[in-house]
Amino acid sequence: MSDVDVAVIGAGLAGLGAATALRAAGRSALVLEASDRIGGRAWTTHPAQLGGVWFDMGAVWLHSAEINPLVPIARAVGDTLLRSDELRVERTFVGTREATAEEYADYGGAWQRYEDRAADILRTRDDVPMAEVARSMPDDPWAVTVETWEGPIICCAGAEEFSLRDWYRNLLSGSNLVPQGGIGAFVARRLGEGLDIRWATPVTKVSWNGSGVSVETLRGRVTARSAIVTVSTGVLAAGAIAFDPPLPPEVLSSIHALPMGLAMKVALRATGPDRLDLPLHCSVDRQVKRSGDPTMGFQCWPYKRDYVQGWVGGPVAWELARAGEAAAVDFALGQLRALFGGRVDRLFGGGQTLVTRWDADPFVRGAYSFVRPGDADARIALAQPLADGRLLFAGEACHNGMAGTVAGAWISGQDAARIAA
Ligand SMILES: Cc1cc2nc3c(=O)[nH]c(=O)nc-3n(C[C@H](O)[C@H](O)[C@H](O)COP(=O)(O)OP(=O)(O)OC[C@H]3O[C@@H](n4cnc5c(N)ncnc54)[C@H](O)[C@@H]3O)c2cc1C
Repeated sequence: MSDVDVAVIGAGLAGLGAATALRAAGRSALVLEASDRIGGRAWTTHPAQLGGVWFDMGAVWLHSAEINPLVPIARAVGDTLLRSDELRVERTFVGTREATAEEYADYGGAWQRYEDRAADILRTRDDVPMAEVARSMPDDPWAVTVETWEGPIICCAGAEEFSLRDWYRNLLSGSNLVPQGGIGAFVARRLGEGLDIRWATPVTKVSWNGSGVSVETLRGRVTARSAIVTVSTGVLAAGAIAFDPPLPPEVLSSIHALPMGLAMKVALRATGPDRLDLPLHCSVDRQVKRSGDPTMGFQCWPYKRDYVQGWVGGPVAWELARAGEAAAVDFALGQLRALFGGRVDRLFGGGQTLVTRWDADPFVRGAYSFVRPGDADARIALAQPLADGRLLFAGEACHNGMAGTVAGAWISGQDAARIAA
């Protein structure tokens, strides 16, 4: 293969962001992608078992829309962005009944109470596990519920294994938008255009000991002045790409401080007219009393599609991944049955289900990175250029502010490209 200014490894959001910025800077870039598609963890499918409607296997939302650089790109070409927050209706259960108006109000305020308490703790402590926040609010009936959302469900890690400081630095605010037809479809349609991308070209080795870099793939070698590596920390930790010379110990320790969490989606398609008396775009959750309690949040009939999607993350997701897809479906049905009774079995009895398996994708190996307590600077450390910018790492794990998101990945790719350029 050819000689280029920059070899970009991976065609997810970070790789696409990097290649786009390099092109704008007048540099040649070749994107080497192991799989047969672009987008990485932004991937829209049309599964037959859900009736062929669009379904995002990974990312769904453009978070913090007011500052998300992908939003103006979508708007400039006239793509429809669904206003998720305005469409969403929420139903919260306490035990088997719906929350009262008073409980809803108390729950609504719990998010701010939780954030304030976290800020208090971080004023005096360097870093602690996220679980410390709810532990220090024993009288707040909703603290563990917020912890469950912010920890295992959103950050894909248990509250005991996750850095509070990293969570606080990467708190998202503002509105959430969903590209009509799926975020993966938007990425594939709009962000790869005009870039030089080689699909089905896994990189096996990066040599960075000379004046440039040499990148070996299963389809030949590329030489370049620098390389931007955007694969997940799961792929890096597994040693799927060899480095010569080996990566310095501080880079290896950053990679190990940023393990992959897991999120699993379980979609169940309705058969028959019952809709559980829930409106369209309904988000269903329940009060959680015990930290670590296996909990699934549900989105029901999202954007007019006739399925319910459960979302579970962290240790429970890993456990279900080990137990298999049938166990994950049973778990989702059990959680729904506890709220809606036996009608759930009639409604979802058709067996049309989908379980996402990011744990089993060899080119990703999890959902997104989290930071171990005490290692809150790992993202910054991993983003530092090596050998005067000849070797750079980028991706969701390297962003500090919007880590674990498509926007964070895109920005970190662009930042690395500027250094390489
Ligand atoms: C279930 C789930 C839900 C999510 N929800 C949201 C959400 O709503 N909003 C949001 O903003 N973010 C969300 N995210 C996170 C978001 O998808 C990621 O942060 C982002 O897509 C990561 O982009 P990346 O470029 O860093 O990595 P990736 O997307 O993983 O891209 C890396 C690329 O490298 C390729 N690759 C791997 N190994 C090699 C190799 N050896 N050689 C060449 N190529 C290789 C991979 O195939 C991949 O295409 C979600 C993720 C998951 C899994």
